[in-house]
Amino acid sequence: MVSLTRESARLTLPQPRSTTVTPPQRFNPSPLESGATLTVDLQAIVANWRMLAAGVGTARCAAVVKADAYGCGIEEVVPALAAAGADTFFVAHGSEGIRARAVAPDATIYVLNGLPPGASVTMLAGGLLPVLGSMAEIEEWAQQGEGGAAALHIDTGMNRLGLNLEEAAVVAKRHAQAQLGFQPSLIMSHLACADEPESPLNAIQLARFRAVRALFPDVAASLANSAATHQSGDWCFDLCRPGIALYGGTPYASLPNPMLPVVSLASRIIQLRDAAAGETVGYGARQRLTRPTRLAILSTGYADGYLRLAGSSDDRSGAEAIVNGKRCPLVGRVSMDLIAIDVTEAGALTRGDYACLIGQGITVDEVAAHAETIGYEVLTSLGKRYHRVYVRA
Ligand SMILES: *Cc1c(COP(=O)(O)O)cnc(C)c1O
Repeated sequence: MVSLTRESARLTLPQPRSTTVTPPQRFNPSPLESGATLTVDLQAIVANWRMLAAGVGTARCAAVVKADAYGCGIEEVVPALAAAGADTFFVAHGSEGIRARAVAPDATIYVLNGLPPGASVTMLAGGLLPVLGSMAEIEEWAQQGEGGAAALHIDTGMNRLGLNLEEAAVVAKRHAQAQLGFQPSLIMSHLACADEPESPLNAIQLARFRAVRALFPDVAASLANSAATHQSGDWCFDLCRPGIALYGGTPYASLPNPMLPVVSLASRIIQLRDAAAGETVGYGARQRLTRPTRLAILSTGYADGYLRLAGSSDDRSGAEAIVNGKRCPLVGRVSMDLIAIDVTEAGALTRGDYACLIGQGITVDEVAAHAETIGYEVLTSLGKRYHRVYVRA
């Protein structure tokens, strides 16, 4: 395979015809008006991106910023990464693309969820490149896309979005005969089991993707998400698409996480109270105290995206918080706006102190494990009521 330089012609794109869009103002209540402070470390996101970008050889490293940059904030994350050298971003929806465009006028922005019927207007106005994932989308873009560039999504085994292999061959033929109606700027596919390196599906998808890629010799190719970017080598092709690893989530469930943590969440203690052994705590009375217990009531709940399943009961212990450097278990269910923790061992505390729910060694993946989910869901659920602080370069 020909190795490509960073200046590869394959990655040269027509300039997006961007309209002027004003970024929306984020609602950011003051600490006095909010239950918790969420700190997003943009320096750590940039360091994570640089670490990944340094490991992908001649490929380039894009950044996936869908779902409000995994809860971290498109308006803040995109300019930080653009300043560090990222020039290609992936979002899921047109609305996210427009937000990214407002803060990154020169970037290449791909919309992963493709082209909803009639949406060519938005794509063209925002200078967004749809990732076309079906023959219907390809035909609509050929007619309404004004010849603009777009990516082609090939399904190699996930059965979610993308052309099947026969359709890809048909499109390749049209492209070779200059009858496609637009210039594909990228062919891409997505791995179903990248976080399980031992899964046989990975090699199957890689072989299928290589075969399709050979049909589009003049088009850049992209396969790798965070986990596959980490493995570098075979998976990287011309462009990598990491998401979760940028935000400090673990690329692999089973291995130590090499990424820097990005978010921390400090929740205000709004009450301290003592409860006797034998009492229960919270909705459903699911946890009975086995000793006299000092409880701290935190002003954060599932309405803030702190997942309800991370709560605790007599049958199943839940997540923890850190207070004065001590691990303090959650007690009882997570309420909509409140959480109780056991601070009996945490030393002197006063009303208004903070408890750390994420950070100081509590990772998003740890919280996720207690809630029977993945770090992605913890991040993308991060609430809208928090006082937000951004650590900038
Ligand atoms: C979300 C997404 C990514 C990023 O995946 P991570 O596992 O977060 O790195 C890459 N490609 C596609 C198509 C995606 O939907």
